[in-house]
Amino acid sequence: MAPQRILITGCNRGIGLELVCQLLQQPSPPVQIFATCRDPDSPQNQKLNDLAAQNPGVVVIKLEATNSQSIQEARKEVEKHLNGAGLNVLVNNAGIMTGSSLESANADDMLNVYNTNVVGPLLITRAFLPFLKKAAEENPGKPLSCGKSALINVSTLLGSIEKTPETFTPYPVLSYRCSKAALNMLTRCQSEGYKKDGILCTALHPGWVQTDLGGPHAHLTVDQSVKGIIKVLDKLSEKHAGILVNWEGDIVPW
Ligand code: NDP
Repeated sequence: MAPQRILITGCNRGIGLELVCQLLQQPSPPVQIFATCRDPDSPQNQKLNDLAAQNPGVVVIKLEATNSQSIQEARKEVEKHLNGAGLNVLVNNAGIMTGSSLESANADDMLNVYNTNVVGPLLITRAFLPFLKKAAEENPGKPLSCGKSALINVSTLLGSIEKTPETFTPYPVLSYRCSKAALNMLTRCQSEGYKKDGILCTALHPGWVQTDLGGPHAHLTVDQSVKGIIKVLDKLSEKHAGILVNWEGDIVPW
């Protein structure tokens, strides 16, 4: 079920930007897409600003995931645009990965990555929760879905404890793995906590994708990954609550 109103973090490049582009190309695109980025006025934001200029439903919102004041200001801005309507989907997509290993990971790196990839999604979700609840209330008869109300935390296979023996040696990225394992736990907790409010909470692995983060040798183009993600969002239901699914809709053990 397609969402009417969606907010995606980290939309100036990579998976976030492609999500905005492809959502706009859907037969029934969302009425409003809140596309957040850290610096709307930066030249790096040109493509997103162009999309917003051509599509009145795209609203660019400034949001720095590690800054609670910025999150609150983004919430106020979105509230104005929602004008009383609910927000069907929140996608916590913004994230960082550093090249840390067992030998090189240090306190600053561990905390910085955790702050962006875990604390950010926690605070962002709490800020936008009233709007997700509102969307669920607007659709009382609907089953859990993105057409009703959903929180999607973009995670990774590298956060899976069970899969670590297969993935550790080529990609140690210690701080990233630990942060995404924590994001998976956060997702499960949010799922438990928000089920009563009618909000579906799911972690999503987008595949290994050719972005700045994934690098040029990744298996998937951003176009392929996002095409898959959009199909998966459309099909998510109660059975996906509190679990990790990939861009093809398969359940990933964590
Ligand atoms: P990119 O590096 O291409 O883009 C990351 C986005 O996150 C940018 O828009 C960036 O903004 C934003 N961002 C980073 N830190 C912050 C912050 N503190 N506040 C606000 N925005 C921030 O990465 P991808 O598009 O590849 O990754 C998107 C998500 O997908 C991430 O959560 C990542 O972990 C996950 N993922 C990606 C995979 C891949 O292979 N690419 C594989 C598995 C998961 P800015 O330009 O300002 O830095």
